[in-house]
Amino acid sequence: MLKKLIRKKLQNYRINLNEPDLSLPEKLSQPKSVAVIGGGIAGISAACNLAERGFSVHLFEKENFLGGKVGSWEFESNGETLRTEHGFHGFFRQYLNLRNFLKKIGAHKHLIPIDDYTILFDKNKKQGFKGLDNTPLINVLELRKFGIVDWKTFINPLGLPFINLLNFSFATTYKKFDSESFASFAKRTHMNDKMRLVFNSFSRAFFAEPEDMSMAELIKSFHFYFLSNEGGLLYDVLDSDFQNSFITYAEDFLSRHAAQIHYSTPVTELSKKERGFAVNGMDFDYCVLCTDVKHTKRLTAQSTGFEKYNRTFSQLTSLKQSGRYAVLRLWTDRFEADKTLPFFIFTDRLKCLDSVTLYHKMEKESARWSEENKGGIFELHSYSVPKDILSDEEVKEHLMQELYHYFPELKGMKITHEFFQHRDDFPGFHTNQYANRPEIKTEVPGFYVAGDWVKMNNCTMLMEAAYTFGSIAANYIMEQEGLRENQLISVPLKGILA
Ligand SMILES: Cc1cc2nc3c(=O)[nH]c(=O)nc-3n(C[C@H](O)[C@H](O)[C@H](O)COP(=O)(O)OP(=O)(O)OC[C@H]3O[C@@H](n4cnc5c(N)ncnc54)[C@H](O)[C@@H]3O)c2cc1C
Repeated sequence: MLKKLIRKKLQNYRINLNEPDLSLPEKLSQPKSVAVIGGGIAGISAACNLAERGFSVHLFEKENFLGGKVGSWEFESNGETLRTEHGFHGFFRQYLNLRNFLKKIGAHKHLIPIDDYTILFDKNKKQGFKGLDNTPLINVLELRKFGIVDWKTFINPLGLPFINLLNFSFATTYKKFDSESFASFAKRTHMNDKMRLVFNSFSRAFFAEPEDMSMAELIKSFHFYFLSNEGGLLYDVLDSDFQNSFITYAEDFLSRHAAQIHYSTPVTELSKKERGFAVNGMDFDYCVLCTDVKHTKRLTAQSTGFEKYNRTFSQLTSLKQSGRYAVLRLWTDRFEADKTLPFFIFTDRLKCLDSVTLYHKMEKESARWSEENKGGIFELHSYSVPKDILSDEEVKEHLMQELYHYFPELKGMKITHEFFQHRDDFPGFHTNQYANRPEIKTEVPGFYVAGDWVKMNNCTMLMEAAYTFGSIAANYIMEQEGLRENQLISVPLKGILA
């Protein structure tokens, strides 16, 4: 009965983000060209949606592969050719639009479920969430089982602000909480250690230190990932590297719809002309900018013709990047001792290490290497490298020390290959950013932006945001051309108590 009421209050866990007019045509009847800049998920989304409708799409990507942060590429090490990626990615069940797209292009068959959402802490302790009821609200009450909430959480006057986790709404949450950091919220509410551990993991998954992370973004993420649907905290992963399990399918789709992909082609020239745009010397009717935050700032700063659109220009050039993050993948001659661990494990960081992925358990190519070489492939992430750890060597040293803290059985292992990345191209979901973030439809006619950093009053985040926003940009262009939009969906926009 309670479950039915919750489902009803939360609109069956699905809402339509738009209502396409079915009387409009689907296909373009006159030639129109679109430049899509950046071949991450957002760019792939915009390009696929528009190419399918008959637009002449040119997708520009600076790397020699598509995918951006879900791209994968080859590298040589000690006489072997191996593949690596930007890092482990979880595809949550509430990534509704992205999952529909994976189905459409045939890639969804590569999704496999993880076993548990696990956090390691205090050396030998682990916090899993298996068996938790997936119904929103009931799942929060059940966190009692794990000592994360107790009756005091909501009754204690200091704990009253926790109610805000249950009443997310765009109208109030950002006003009230975008200027407060998670660290300050946790201190003010005397958050217990277990709850702090869970929220720290959440906050780090957004590449921010607790003192920088906007509490409003964290409340939205808690709503999106935990309180607005019955997907639960569990998610799926791709069983094979990103190129084989995802990007190849998107490339086939694009080529079937006559889109042109310009690999290894960084856009260095972007101009707004009287009508349309010039991109690397080619003319286009529309432009969708899908670059990451770092390169968006750079490209906009060197573009021409945008200066008179003050608001868009200043929003794009003042976007905030996250701090630095690091990904270290290791090919070794050892395995973890605890065979019950899931593919991906959060670690309560001592200084640097936030997660460890056991690739040999998860991904076909890695499993094959592991079988042939009798060793494990581990990937270590630091989602936010502390400000006092600067050099690559120092970061690696900290990551390794912390790996051995949690997995002492790996001490002394031989590392046959490694691939290290130390980057700063993730959006900063920091305090006081929301109001000034650009929206998909800009004030520049025919110019749209998409990516996980764009502001939109809908409940999507990270990969789902990138896919959904690329599709919304495509919908705006279809609307301009009098075409039927594609249907997009989402979890409900308000929390259960809002
Ligand atoms: C280590 C790591 C782990 C993550 N884990 C998860 C997870 O578990 N779940 C989840 O949902 N999300 C996760 N994310 C976030 C997710 O990867 C991103 O939100 C999403 O992929 C962003 O897609 P995008 O298209 O907006 O941007 P990007 O993937 O950054 O794509 C931007 C593209 O633009 C290209 N580009 C830049 N400048 C130019 C130029 N001048 N000309 C041409 N091309 C250019 C870049 O090369 C890139 O291909 C993770 C991210 C990282 C780094």
